Amino acid sequence: MSRPVVIPLDHVQLKDRGLVVCDIDEVVLEYLSPFTAYLRSRGHDLLPRSFRLHGNIVETASGQAVLDAVVDALQEDFFAAQEAWQTPAALAVETLAALGRDADVVFLTAMPPRHAEARRRLLDRLGLPFPMLATEEPKGPVVSALHRSRPLPLAFVDDIHGNHRSVQASAPEALLVHLMANQVFRAMAPEAGDSIHCASDWREAERIIRAHFAQPARP
Ligand SMILES: [Mg+2]
Repeated sequence: MSRPVVIPLDHVQLKDRGLVVCDIDEVVLEYLSPFTAYLRSRGHDLLPRSFRLHGNIVETASGQAVLDAVVDALQEDFFAAQEAWQTPAALAVETLAALGRDADVVFLTAMPPRHAEARRRLLDRLGLPFPMLATEEPKGPVVSALHRSRPLPLAFVDDIHGNHRSVQASAPEALLVHLMANQVFRAMAPEAGDSIHCASDWREAERIIRAHFAQPARP
């Protein structure tokens, strides 16, 4: 048995229609590009040597990779400053507005909940008013608690395959879509596997989601 989901879901009101659960960093908002700019403003840099942050963030002066604890602290500081740095991923705002006319859209972001207010303000300012859940818990049980196995189509969009696997385990009916704004890091991403649909941009992601949602409902 998986642990019960403890984050509040009361503010998410779903209608009887398809549900798109959507990650934020690298999917709805640019993350790696503004984070790199932020690091450079603080005497650091992110080198695209492999598909991870730890080990690839260096001190500019020495060229030395910083300790994992420093990476974590820099990420924490960036989350606190996100409103000044993060911008929408290409086509995200208009595509989600279009999808949101026909389906429920819920944001599920793997971010410490203490930064949720800043992120909410940023999303609202950018025209992304959809309900948001911020948690560092595995995503699968949260998606399952939201959807509750309703006989309605479900899609999950994320840039991290570990999150796809989590959702696949908890809500196997979900359509899994991989989307990642940063082209350099996307080229280094691990193989997706057969069950994950890779979209090169939001236009393709919308096409994949709409095709899935147009299929007949499960009995
Ligand atoms: Mg992400």
